[in-house]
Amino acid sequence: MEKMYQQLGIDNNVYAFGESVLKELLPRFCEIDETAEYNQMKVLSAMQEHHLSEAHFCASTGYGYNDIGRDTLEEVYASVFHTEDALVRPQIMCGTHALNIALSANLRPGDEILSPVGKPYDTMDEIIGIRKSKGSLKEFGVSYRQVDLNEDGSFDFDGIRAAINEKTKLVTIQRSKGYAKRPTLSVERIGELISFVKSIKPDVICMVDNCYGEFVQTIEPSDAGADLVVGSLIKNPGGGLAPVGGYIAGKKEYVELAAYRLSSPGLGKEVGATLGLNQTFFQGLFLAPVVTAGALKGAIFAANVYEKLGFTVLPNGSEPRYDIIQAVELATPKGLFSFCKGIQAAAPVDSFVTPEPWDMPGYDAKVIMAAGAFVQGSSIELSADGPLKPPYTAFFQGGLTWYHAKFGILKSLQSMLDAGLVRL
Ligand SMILES: *Cc1c(COP(=O)(O)O)cnc(C)c1O
Repeated sequence: MEKMYQQLGIDNNVYAFGESVLKELLPRFCEIDETAEYNQMKVLSAMQEHHLSEAHFCASTGYGYNDIGRDTLEEVYASVFHTEDALVRPQIMCGTHALNIALSANLRPGDEILSPVGKPYDTMDEIIGIRKSKGSLKEFGVSYRQVDLNEDGSFDFDGIRAAINEKTKLVTIQRSKGYAKRPTLSVERIGELISFVKSIKPDVICMVDNCYGEFVQTIEPSDAGADLVVGSLIKNPGGGLAPVGGYIAGKKEYVELAAYRLSSPGLGKEVGATLGLNQTFFQGLFLAPVVTAGALKGAIFAANVYEKLGFTVLPNGSEPRYDIIQAVELATPKGLFSFCKGIQAAAPVDSFVTPEPWDMPGYDAKVIMAAGAFVQGSSIELSADGPLKPPYTAFFQGGLTWYHAKFGILKSLQSMLDAGLVRL
């Protein structure tokens, strides 16, 4: 084994350090496997329930009328998330697009959005109009309010109560911390927040940005009262196979409105050719619980490796996990760069290139990204990215297999070691 790793550029001391860290993690890995097993059965049972068959893998073109594969895929998603309905489409370009559809479909001029968990993910700024932008909801007369989490990460219930008013139509709750320095929310905590919001205003729509959270626990936010859950298929639920797409699952009324926004009023879910992608979407969903488990192990391994070396990691090495993202504060631009360089060098695709910071659309600082993915930008595949601003945090995620995630971390460590940034 050491020889194989050596051949891939991992020194013996780096490998040995990794193994010593790993030894202590095995009991936790068993728990992750159990969650994966449960979720595997959940997905399988949804597929059986809806009589998935080969006919569902046919391609539709043009309008895509009567695409039974697409309709069944949406029924399977609705079963997995225990929702009334779901919209799962290759025409949803990414997570941001899915969120934009869900919001703009369900809000009208004069309505207000409330985020009770602090500032949402960067790309939401321009959708909502937190940063001035063309076509934002703000331009359409939708206002926004935000209540930050308390210093200790708890909900500011008094602040939330005070922020809910007659205009509040939709509450947006981001499960994952994304690029923010706050805890990721467990489904249980999301449930607690939704109950509180509904106790004040029962008809408010509770939408959860579920990106990176799917299949990390045995329940999803829709099991805890969320009216809408939204995510990307090039993250967890696509299982690494989906080449594009997003989903919106939830109450029939809200999903229907989302379909009218995605296609057109009057057309809704009836149109949308799937061009031969149905089989990939089904197969990706089928693998998603195990792929997510591998990514989760990678995140925990990364946390423990870098924590032992004295870096600040979020979540820390021992706390429970509610998404697959691992933040590692690398303190310097050189640290962030070396880390990402190592991740890139571990990739199956484009392992020979060096990542460079760039002005990525939707983000307010330059971002460095390491990704050698089969699907461009797919962050369920091994990837790391970080905005070029202090404390130079790398957000590490993904890995289609646990072994690849492990190798990526070892490679990042080797790169840091070679740059003289760590000592073993
Ligand atoms: C990734 C992500 C998004 C946006 O998804 P894209 O596919 O990159 O557009 C939104 N919210 C969170 C929490 C995310 O992690």
